[in-house]
Amino acid sequence: MRDILPPESGRWRRFTAVFADVVEAAGYQQLIPPLLEDLGVFTRIGDATDVVTKEMYDFVDKGKRRVALRPEQTASVCRSFAQHRPTVPWKVFYSGPNFRYEKPQRGRYRQFDQVGIEVLGVDDPMLDVEVIALGWEFYRALGLRQVTLQLNSLGEPDDRARYVEALRTHFEAAGEQLSEQSRNTLAKNPLRVLDSKREPDQTFIESAPQIADFYSDEAAAHFDAVQVGLRALDIPFVVEPKLVRGLDYYRRTIFEFLGGTLDSAQNALGGGGRYDGLVEALGGPATPGIGFALGVDRTLIACDDEGCFDAEAPQLVAFVVDVVGGLEAAVLTTDLRAAGLSADRGYDNRSMKAQMKLANRSGASFAVIVGEQEHADGTVVIKPMHGGDQVTIPRSELIAHLSETTNS
Ligand code: AMP
Repeated sequence: MRDILPPESGRWRRFTAVFADVVEAAGYQQLIPPLLEDLGVFTRIGDATDVVTKEMYDFVDKGKRRVALRPEQTASVCRSFAQHRPTVPWKVFYSGPNFRYEKPQRGRYRQFDQVGIEVLGVDDPMLDVEVIALGWEFYRALGLRQVTLQLNSLGEPDDRARYVEALRTHFEAAGEQLSEQSRNTLAKNPLRVLDSKREPDQTFIESAPQIADFYSDEAAAHFDAVQVGLRALDIPFVVEPKLVRGLDYYRRTIFEFLGGTLDSAQNALGGGGRYDGLVEALGGPATPGIGFALGVDRTLIACDDEGCFDAEAPQLVAFVVDVVGGLEAAVLTTDLRAAGLSADRGYDNRSMKAQMKLANRSGASFAVIVGEQEHADGTVVIKPMHGGDQVTIPRSELIAHLSETTNS
């Protein structure tokens, strides 16, 4: 877990604002779920998921309830839907931290932020297209150009179940030749063996049965429609039959956005898919759902790599230098701020030289100086900090003068 310091922290806030702009323009509204939920909300995600079995920050609270810090937010959204029963389609977005007890490394932290959207109550493949397109558009809005989209379908639950059995048989036949980790994974979730990057597993992964051979007509038609839609929107994608995603609840469409500049172990910027069963598992009515979660931390690393969406300190208009006691600066900064002109000041009645140094460091466009003479005359000196001549003007003209200069 780490601090996000200024000016980097400002970038995080802009990140969320850009995301909100993109999805609010498509009819999504923000849901703010709690950070802490009943443990049961997350165990419904599935007990073959590392996030649930190994990485959860769960504990017993003072009321003897088993609770957990959320490892992700889709389960919370579905819990919220089951609890409040809003009208469908329910189109929500979220942003904020999640917690997973992972091995920390670059791009992988124990507290990390995600932004995401979820839509509950719609089966239409055109919604899958909309959701994926919004993720795509968001990366474009950040300025990222090297993101690729991988797409797959896990079929209907029955298709997926038959496929899982076929995979189990296939990988069991490999016996001891499979890596020890993959043998462990196989016992819990044969799909995830396809995720293995370990060398001994690769030949067996190559020769594994293909999910497409297990699709029902319905699942195949749904998946086709999604692809037709993405092509109509000119969104490039690659169908990746081995894409399975980490969480157990996915069915039918799944997708992942990969960063072109990141190491392959940490190159997933975000992903999502359909989870037409999660609301029911959380005590609600059978409700189709789809969404994605995008990792903020990793996406910002990709932005650094691609030289886009920079961290920048907010640009102050004025820095008030008051060497006559500090009260003048209190009034002037308050007036400037009220007029929409950002302003900071020096404190402790320090010398002119010391305060001018601060003005310089602040990055403000202008120093507004009140010395003995100006104090006596009711004037201020305005000194442009990035070149140009200083002027002395009546105090009453300060706001009009700075508004005009900053707008021109
Ligand atoms: P998931 O919720 O596992 O599907 O992850 C979605 C996205 O969240 C990933 O593609 C990452 O960008 C991000 N993410 C997941 N886990 C972490 C983590 N421990 N640290 C940083 N980012 C993460």
